[in-house]
Amino acid sequence: MTLRQREATSGQVSEEGEAAPGKVSVAPADVPCQAPECKTPECKAKHDEHNARCRSFLASPVWKCTTLVVVGFTPVFGVVLAMPHLLNTLGVAPWTLAWLLHYSFGAWISTQFLYNFIATQWTDPGGCKNLKPDKEVTGQFQLGGDRDQLALFYAPNWCTKCSCWKPPRSHHCSTCNRCILRMDHHCPFTGNCIGARNHGHFILFYIFAFIGLLYSLVLCVGAAYTTDHLSRWTDHIEPKWKEHKASLNKHFNFGLAGVAFSIFVQVLRDKGIEIVVQLVSTVSALVAVLGTGIPACHLACGNVTTMERLFPMKEYVQLQDQVYCPLGPGFYRQSTTENLAVIMGKRWWLRLLLPIPGELDSAILSPAPSKEGQEALQDRMRQVEEQGVKQEVRTCQDLGFDPGPAQPKV
Ligand SMILES: [Zn+2]
Ligand SMILES: [Zn+2]
Repeated sequence: MTLRQREATSGQVSEEGEAAPGKVSVAPADVPCQAPECKTPECKAKHDEHNARCRSFLASPVWKCTTLVVVGFTPVFGVVLAMPHLLNTLGVAPWTLAWLLHYSFGAWISTQFLYNFIATQWTDPGGCKNLKPDKEVTGQFQLGGDRDQLALFYAPNWCTKCSCWKPPRSHHCSTCNRCILRMDHHCPFTGNCIGARNHGHFILFYIFAFIGLLYSLVLCVGAAYTTDHLSRWTDHIEPKWKEHKASLNKHFNFGLAGVAFSIFVQVLRDKGIEIVVQLVSTVSALVAVLGTGIPACHLACGNVTTMERLFPMKEYVQLQDQVYCPLGPGFYRQSTTENLAVIMGKRWWLRLLLPIPGELDSAILSPAPSKEGQEALQDRMRQVEEQGVKQEVRTCQDLGFDPGPAQPKV
């Protein structure tokens, strides 16, 4: 069997949303372990068993509860133990309107954050078994969007490990050992895959973490600022700094560490251990949330999954019999609101207010292309009709997908 494919492939949309010349992307082969002890089959088996045990532990309830305790520390400690000290230091009297508003906001943001984190951990990300393709015989799902303009189908993609058809944007997760519907990535920290059913919780968890930590930081810095460390600096440390300037310049880092330590000790002594603990945990958590949350939210706003960003996409749309066109990472990008609605569902605005689950997008099995993607596909269809195909491969596997058990492999 000979498959034909155009060199300039339709629908491959670059980062900027423009049609770009396509290439058949081939994922790198599994890199064999280079460790000398893994050369024999016995050691390789041991190595595989060890990996399987690690993966199993990282998806276990014990691990999920451990990470829940770690991420839950800052909001729970903050509302229950640090907040009374913080509000007292800031001069907010108990049972006043301001006091009630602070507590209501703290409780709401903590509930939303913890609910979405727990839901990310325990919600089934969505499996691909028992999903019926639009064309059941060939296992093909239809392209979404305006079907009057583009009545096309995705290339069939069979998972030999799960024995099921993979809908567009789905992948087989080697950790979960199953195909995940619109898989974003496997998240070891939450102990779960991030897929169609829990991606919204995952993004909301970052959004509420950021808002809550920023609020906590403002309260902590406000409370710490009321210490007299600035006057202590002027009265006590500055003269000594001048006296020992030459030697301090040699040990500049030590000098800065000394100043920081002086402030730390004074806040601890004057304001209590709760405010210091809350400040340290807030700053640490904020660094982690910004470091991992910004890329996750950026991709979600562009309707690009982490898998599509990190690995060459092996998604194809069938233009004609045996003619396939590869898709690029920007193929599904709509407006930011539409992209977030795909992940969070139509009730996304209600989920910003209340801790509720989202509903699965009805177009999940037929994702719609962006306007640019649709135009690029139409361009490529014209090119195929006028000029024919420019690149041919022998098998579907050469393109990176499996046409299924009923189709000839070669
Ligand atoms: Zn699978
Ligand atoms: Zn997984």
